[in-house]
Amino acid sequence: MACLFCRIAQNELPHTRAFEDEDIVAFADINPQAPVHLLVIPRRHIATLNDLDAADDSLLGRMHRVAAELARVRGIADDGYRVVVNCNAGAGQTVFHLHMHVLGGRSMTWPPG
Ligand code: AMP
Ligand code: ZN
Repeated sequence: MACLFCRIAQNELPHTRAFEDEDIVAFADINPQAPVHLLVIPRRHIATLNDLDAADDSLLGRMHRVAAELARVRGIADDGYRVVVNCNAGAGQTVFHLHMHVLGGRSMTWPPG
């Protein structure tokens, strides 16, 4: 299996797991851009946000709830955190398995670069 995040979801590569259920895995970003930087992914391979269909609506809703719960557990929910999905290369996507960045623990600026 070539996809990096599919391999992480299958526990075939080392990573620091923060959450898992039947459909979703979350783990620490290897190159954190904030004191808390987690990635929330579907277990199933979905390349980009453009590849979602209506059947994925509940999965994406659940991923957001997982992000919010992780933010709460990591103590960044009240101060504030950012959830980011980069879609395609022009937005900075480098791993083509859908993932939500959850970033917090520092103040954020807007707009992002
Ligand atoms: P993006 O640029 O939105 O595609 O984000 C990909 C993210 O995956 C980056 O923040 C990388 O630091 C992170 N990343 C790449 N390889 C790994 C890995 N093996 N384990 C954890 N995070 C990774
Ligand atoms: Zn994948």
